[in-house]
Parts: sequence; structure tokens; C-alpha cells
Amino acid sequence: MKCYKCNEKAVVLIRRKKYACKEHFNQWVRGRVESVIRKFKVKGKIAVAISGGKDSATCLKLLSTFKDLQIFPFHINLGIKNYSRNCLKAVRKICSELKLEPHIIDLKKEYGITIDKLKGKKCSDCGTIKRYLSNKFAFENKLDWVATGHNLTDELVFIFNNLLSGQVSQLLRIGPVLPSMKGKKLVGRVKPLYFLMERETEKFAILNEIPFYKGKCPYSKEAPTTSLKKIAEILEKYYPDKVKNLVNSFLKIKEKLPEEKFKTKFCKKCSYPSLSKICKFCKIIQASG
Ligand code: AMP
Ligand code: ZN
Ligand code: ZN
Repeated sequence: MKCYKCNEKAVVLIRRKKYACKEHFNQWVRGRVESVIRKFKVKGKIAVAISGGKDSATCLKLLSTFKDLQIFPFHINLGIKNYSRNCLKAVRKICSELKLEPHIIDLKKEYGITIDKLKGKKCSDCGTIKRYLSNKFAFENKLDWVATGHNLTDELVFIFNNLLSGQVSQLLRIGPVLPSMKGKKLVGRVKPLYFLMERETEKFAILNEIPFYKGKCPYSKEAPTTSLKKIAEILEKYYPDKVKNLVNSFLKIKEKLPEEKFKTKFCKKCSYPSLSKICKFCKIIQASG
């Protein structure tokens, strides 16, 4: 099979009947990322959240090719048995290949807690901690954005999960960017891989020999999102050209939702964003103290 752009032998099927050589696949992937960066005017200093996995490694590699962005990679050591150690190792390797120094936020050293030892932990605690600390890191260092490696598949899973729980207002949280709030401790968030499916970022990482850790979090087996991901993957397999439309349809529905249903409040204790008087992060810290 020939590449859709040149006469080289194709190494990857992009979409139905669209094959590409490595060079043109890379160009296509970067183009997807560039469309998010340019459309939403993402510029300046970007905190890039690196987990050690393929998505955030790909995200970091691609963002580092934009000359007008200043990249600040960071990793949160969550304290999960061997898993966190392996993630950290991969983070160091990815960053050293790109000649970047990662900032490490150590949950144990800084807050005296680990996910392993968290009392009565819920699946969502990990997400709460990651969201909170990434925003705090960017805010304290006066950075303009937090970038994460979330892709189209993750977004589908997020949508399914919330709709299954009847939480329609959570759709206000979807989209390639979530804006900052002037004068508040809320930094804008961007998902540069928003228009790429998981298998596409994986293919990019493998083809370009980006180092990443393949292990899965030991707690993810119990997460409801693990089975929803299988559903998203089936949809992507049978409708590779249409899943983007599905997510875009939800983005249109988001536009119609009344924003006041999901008004951002700020924690009375730490003044970072919260859904109630005291934010979930402060509650987690309090409960483990
Ligand atoms: P996940 O919630 O594990 O699917 O990860 C989604 C995104 O959150 C990743 O692509 C990273 O950008 C970010 N992320 C996840 N875990 C970490 C971590 N331990 N430290 C920093 N960023 C993370
Ligand atoms: Zn080509
Ligand atoms: Zn708080």
C-alpha cells in the first residue's frame, strides 16, 4: 500500500483507505495537535503533565516541536507500589531524551500521603489529586496553561461515564480547552491530543521510539472507566471516521447547557477551585491527617 501523500510504502492506516508513510503520518499527527494549539491560541509557558505513559510522552514530544511554546514538564509521584516507581523512571527517560528537566511533585514528601495508604480511597481521588496539584503547580509558577495527554478515546469514556451516572452538567467540562479565570487560582487546561484516538497516539509513540511505561495502575482494574474504554474502542473500530463527529456532537450540546449549573466556586481553605465550600483535595488531606 502506498502513502496518501507520496510514493513511499505506507506503514500505517490513518483512517478508512488512508494509508501513510512514517513521515506523513507524523505530519498528520502534528497537524491535529497544531489545530488545537492555534485555534485556541495556546501560547507562552505550558506545564505539561507527564504520567510516564504513551499519551503524555507523545504530547510532550509534539509540544516540544512548537518553537513559540515554553515547556515545563512535571510529574506527580502518587505513591502506588511499584507502579509509581516505574512511571517516574519512564518520566526521567522521556525528559532526558528531550533535554528537559521534569519537576517532581511527591505526594508523600509534600503532603505525607500516598494513594496506597489513603484511608477509604475512591477511584476518583486519584483524579482529584492530579487535577488539584497540576493546577497548583502551574499557578504557583505563573505558567499560562496545563497540558495533559488526554485523547479522543479518553473524552468518549468521560462522556459515557457521566451520562451513565446521569450527570449531564459534567458535559460542561468537556472540550479541547478549559479557560482560566482572571484573578482566580485557576489556570487554563489544554488537551493537545484531543482529536487523536488512543491507537493513533500509541502508533506515533511506537513508530518514533518514544520511551514510555506500558504498565497499568493496579487500581485501574476496579475503575468503571476500564469497561467503558472497551466500548469506546469498539466504536472507534467500526466507525473510525465518525467518532470525531460523536465527540463534536457532545461539544455542540455543551454549548446549549446553562453554565450556572456548574459554576466554579473556590475552596474556603485553600482558595483553589472547588465544587463545594471545602475542596475535595483539602478533604482528602484532612481525612488522612
Ligand atoms: P489518566 O488520568 O491516567 O488517564 O491520565 C490522563 C493525563 O493526566 C495524562 O495523559 C497526563 O497528562 C496526566 N497524568 C496522569 N497521571 C499523572 C501523573 N502521575 N503526573 C502528572 N500527570 C499525570
Ligand atoms: Zn508519505
Ligand atoms: Zn481546598
